[in-house]
Amino acid sequence: MADTRSIPTPALPTPAEIAAARDRLIVALDLPTATAARALVDRLDDAASVYKIGHELLFAGGIDLAADLKRSGKRVFLDLKLLDIANTVQRSVANAARLGADFLTIHGHDRATIAAAVAGRGDSGLKVLCVTVLTSLSQSDVFEQGIEMTPADLVLYRAKMAFAAGADGVVASGQEAAAIRAATGPDFLIVTPGIRPAGGDHGDQARVTTPAQAIASGATHLVVGRPITGAVEEKTAADVITHEIATSRSALSSRRAK
Ligand code: C5P
Repeated sequence: MADTRSIPTPALPTPAEIAAARDRLIVALDLPTATAARALVDRLDDAASVYKIGHELLFAGGIDLAADLKRSGKRVFLDLKLLDIANTVQRSVANAARLGADFLTIHGHDRATIAAAVAGRGDSGLKVLCVTVLTSLSQSDVFEQGIEMTPADLVLYRAKMAFAAGADGVVASGQEAAAIRAATGPDFLIVTPGIRPAGGDHGDQARVTTPAQAIASGATHLVVGRPITGAVEEKTAADVITHEIATSRSALSSRRAK
């Protein structure tokens, strides 16, 4: 029999590590009605603590749902991807902060608008996140927009601008997280959509990573939609991803400690 004494067994995450990992999983409520979203939140129960409300639900009771989620102790990520003149963005962000949202996205295309969003959130505790380049966009899509950069270079360029303008973090794919982390230091939030468990269907996402790859690259939070909302066992799918986040984070911190 093979001698396995020298093979270290990975430590199982502690309950505290699982709870911390759960706060890093943002479940995208990309569902047609607030009723369907409420039912999913009920089914997920304590398997998820942060929910993302985007454009689809915004026009179907999403703001009332956000208020209900806050009342029930959940955290709310408003994925509104604001893009407008600085003055309008500042006033919109201030209103989102008054709603009690925890995270809000804007498109991080110019420094003045990002700085205005940061001024709008004031000291409310709302985290302003700049979308760099949508994770569904590939090289040819970026060229088609008239931008002669690779998606990875454009993401890094915009992430540095968001950091310099005082944003709390960015939204980018896990494929770009390591370069962003290296350029922005330890505290900047890096929220990664385009998450697919190993072997999962990519759907319309072009720049995907597994949960473990995203965390190992420096992501602080993962946005996950269809891998949970489309799963037969939604709660199990969420728990598996939370476990993968916890395991990757503890592997990361033990590597750093060495
Ligand atoms: O279903 P899936 O896991 O692909 O959902 C990803 C979610 O993240 C969607 O709600 C999408 O709007 C959002 N998102 C994204 N890429 C970005 C920003 C947000 O896919 N850059």
